[in-house]
Amino acid sequence: MLRLGDEAFESASLEGSATVSANFSGLTDPRRTTQKQVSGGVSAIMFDFDGTLTATPGDRSARRYKIAELKERSGMLRPWLERLGGAGIVMGIISKSTEDTILTALGVAGLLELFQGPIVGKAVGFEGKAGFIEALCETGLLSTLRPGISARSVLLVDDDILELNRCREHGIQTYPAPLDGGLQDDEFREVCLLLGIQAPAKPKVTEAAREPASVRGLR
Ligand SMILES: [Mg+2]
Repeated sequence: MLRLGDEAFESASLEGSATVSANFSGLTDPRRTTQKQVSGGVSAIMFDFDGTLTATPGDRSARRYKIAELKERSGMLRPWLERLGGAGIVMGIISKSTEDTILTALGVAGLLELFQGPIVGKAVGFEGKAGFIEALCETGLLSTLRPGISARSVLLVDDDILELNRCREHGIQTYPAPLDGGLQDDEFREVCLLLGIQAPAKPKVTEAAREPASVRGLR
C-alpha cells in the first residue's frame, strides 16, 4: 500500500513539476517542517477552515468570500476528502469562524456530507484548539464516533503555527497548511503518503483551484 503510494507520489511529482505555479506551497520550507508531526494511526482529521480549506488566512476574508473560495476550491478538495474518508478517517472542522459560516460554505460547495465529524465554530479558548480536540475525544462527538479515541490519534491540519505548536505539545498530530492560499494537491498528496493511503489516481488540478478567488475579479 505504502509502496504504491510512493510510486504514485513520485509519478505525480514528475508530472506536476512542469505545471507548478507561482503559488507552490513550499513543502520543504524549513519553517514548516517542525509543524509536520504525523506518526500514523490517525482515526480523525480536524481541519482548520480559513486559509486551510479556504484560500485566505485568518479573518482577512468576509463571509461571502469564504463561501465563494470554498466553492471555487471544491473540485480540488473533493477527491482528496473522499479518499481520506474512504480510508475510514472521520473528518471535522475546527475554526474561529462561526459554525453558521462553515456549514453554509460546505453546503454551497457541496462538501457537507464528507464531514461526518465535529464542526466546531468559534474555537477560541484558554488552551486553543488543543483543548477543544481533547474535549471532543473525552466526551464529545469524536468519542461517540470512535469510542476509545485519544488525542494522539487526531491530526490537526492548520495554517496557524501557534495552534499547531500547542497541539503538538498536547500530543496531537499536526500538519501545516501553507502560510497563504490554503491546502493544495501537494499537501494532500503528502498527507496521504504519511498516512499510508494511496493518492487518487488523477487528482483534479485546475487553474481555478490554484488561484485565489480575488484573481478572477470576485472582490
Ligand atoms: Mg486558518
